Amino acid sequence: TTHTLTNPKDNGKSSSGHRVSVLVPLPFPGPLDYLSHEALSPGELVAVPLGKREVVGCVWEATTHLPPDFQRPVGKTVPLSRLRTIGHKLEVQPLPPSLRHFIDWVAAYTLTPPGLVLAMAMRVHLGDTPKPALGWVRTQKPEEKIRITPSRRAVLDAASHIPMTTSDLAEASSTSSAVVRGLATAGLLEQVVISASSPFHPPNPDYGTPRLSEEQEEVSKKLTNLVEAHHFDVLLLEGVTGSGKTEVYFEAIAACLRQQKQVLVLLPEIALSTQWTDRFARRFGVEPAIWHSDLGAKRRRETWHAVAKGEAQVVVGARSALFLPFETLGLIIVDEEHESAFKQEEGVMYHGRDMAIVRGRLVNAPVILVSATPSLETLANVESGRYQHELLTSRHGGATMPSVSLVDMKENSPERGFFLSPKLCTAIDETLANGEQAMLFLNRRGYAPLTLCRACGYRAQCPNCSAWLVEHRARGVLTCHHCGHIERIPKECPQCHAENSLVPIGPGIERITEEAKQRFLDAKILVMSSDTLASPSATAEAIRQIADEEVNLIIGTQIVAKGWHFPKLTLVGVVDADLGLGGGDLRAAERTVQLLHQVAGRAGRAAHAGQVYLQSYVGEHPVMKALIANDFQSFMEQEAAQRRPSFWPPYGRLAALIISAATAEAADALAKEIALYAPEREGVQILGPAPAPLAVLRGRHRRRLLLRTMRGIAVQPILRDWLKDIKVKGTTKIEIDIDPISF
Ligand code: ADP
Ligand code: ZN
Repeated sequence: TTHTLTNPKDNGKSSSGHRVSVLVPLPFPGPLDYLSHEALSPGELVAVPLGKREVVGCVWEATTHLPPDFQRPVGKTVPLSRLRTIGHKLEVQPLPPSLRHFIDWVAAYTLTPPGLVLAMAMRVHLGDTPKPALGWVRTQKPEEKIRITPSRRAVLDAASHIPMTTSDLAEASSTSSAVVRGLATAGLLEQVVISASSPFHPPNPDYGTPRLSEEQEEVSKKLTNLVEAHHFDVLLLEGVTGSGKTEVYFEAIAACLRQQKQVLVLLPEIALSTQWTDRFARRFGVEPAIWHSDLGAKRRRETWHAVAKGEAQVVVGARSALFLPFETLGLIIVDEEHESAFKQEEGVMYHGRDMAIVRGRLVNAPVILVSATPSLETLANVESGRYQHELLTSRHGGATMPSVSLVDMKENSPERGFFLSPKLCTAIDETLANGEQAMLFLNRRGYAPLTLCRACGYRAQCPNCSAWLVEHRARGVLTCHHCGHIERIPKECPQCHAENSLVPIGPGIERITEEAKQRFLDAKILVMSSDTLASPSATAEAIRQIADEEVNLIIGTQIVAKGWHFPKLTLVGVVDADLGLGGGDLRAAERTVQLLHQVAGRAGRAAHAGQVYLQSYVGEHPVMKALIANDFQSFMEQEAAQRRPSFWPPYGRLAALIISAATAEAADALAKEIALYAPEREGVQILGPAPAPLAVLRGRHRRRLLLRTMRGIAVQPILRDWLKDIKVKGTTKIEIDIDPISF
């Protein structure tokens, strides 16, 4: 092959052309060299030959400005005469330097080939920017001195002050384009750009300004100052649920708009953001630009170009919006910063919140992290003084925090096969009788998480994964939530062939819904899960039904925990508060507190006080105690005290190596070989190999090694050095997850 890595010592100039490095969206270790006959600048998009096809790549700097630990390897240089020639240059906005720098940074940090990160920035069918259409208008010049033929007369009559294209004008006057051009030469017509109306109207910072409370006003000042300082800084905006965090950070957005700069707002689940965009429209007069992976191709392309040209001033998006080519980014906001949904777990494994901070640093713009229950990572950064911290302590409009109480399921258990305790049921009865709304939360889709044979003990398991099959009764199937395997619910036990012996064990929300229908005969029930709310419009419709009080009992999975504001909702029942605590993940407790606090925060956000019931078998658990006392801080201090001595994140650095293979033997063999070469160094520790959290996934056997280092030691160079001589054979695979979110 003629492709090679770039040698930074070669400036690429020669009489026969220029050496240009081009990063293509494919897994090469670095940019490839090409020959160009015209001078090209970094950031320009070009079509280049690659093998037998042509791909679109980006002209890249030969060297990058990364810390030494991060530098990518430099390959040998191919002589200019053997380089292939660049195809054509695309007529689009070049990728700005800060985005290119960011791509290099993310690649180096996550140990992924930079081309794969570039691919995320170019996940649009780019092509050239559509050329602006030109049209003819009548000039002020008098006709006297000019010879007006009948066909010229016809054109002049058809033309007006509204621009028309050459062909439209020729057609309207039944003449030819030559006649039109002749009139232009004579000075009677002139050409203007036909303005294509951009779908991205500028938000108006003064459209619907709110009356802020004193506390909100004070915090909003701090945020505004941050934006007006025009440099990188990170601020944690912490505030109880319903305190007006969104309202307050809208003021920071307004400040940024007044500076004529762009704003990026990251949300963990953009598909559920209808309420957010409505609020935005009420505050700023127009909808923001939206970015997520389900956007249609046309909208994607329009948005990409509008961001590049600075026409899209506020973008609200999923983590992938970090890779948009912002022209002048002045502020990044990460709402619900503690959410694990910000972590991308396949392909380029990066954390949206962490990379938002990197992005902010590289464009020298402030970053605001928002949460009612900040992550331990963020709190540690506040404590060390790296981040600023602002706090909203009370709910807006005098609403009180919900009271949280425990339902001890050891004493208050329902009958066999039922899951709602008498205590919770009574509370629901009362709530509905008062004309208020109640919500039941269970973070599990389907009917039952396990199907068991009463006769022989058989358990329905996924053939491809180490996981039980989940019954979805409405669809009549058992399915695997990890690989999507699906089968009909068997009529008899597949093992002992007993009939009617298969029983569901434990509840999913379908089963809770069934129970609720039996128990609350008059309730108007709405089910909210990814199974029932497949599209944004279905979600919007559900939200409307709640707002219009067409329903009064909402049953849902984690979807209901999102930042919804339902004024009539006063009771939240958590069906199984212990659900997230099993599994031996060190982060399980933190995640459970954050999720349940978020769910609890849906209750009593307006005039009526809220109540929350936690059904639990482990009432003494620190998670339950923290939720009941509404004392998040002591809980996090306890968590910190547990992790600090042994350098678990955020007090040390962590990387996971996931080794996978078609057979258990092959996975074990490779894992052991890797362990054999494990680095021995002070402040560096290797844990494992051990079975990965899902020991078998999609038919692949998985082992995991963890690399843990003291905070000052970067894991990337250690990993590179450790793995450089490891040969991966056949279908075995090593994946590196820097800063894994489970450990
Ligand atoms: P959080 O994001 O902290 O949960 P929100 O910003 O969603 O809180 O505010 C909760 C509710 O209170 C929303 O309906 C919001 O519109 C309302 N609200 C908050 N502050 C104000 C204010 N200053 N004026 C009017 N409404 C407000
Ligand atoms: Zn499976």
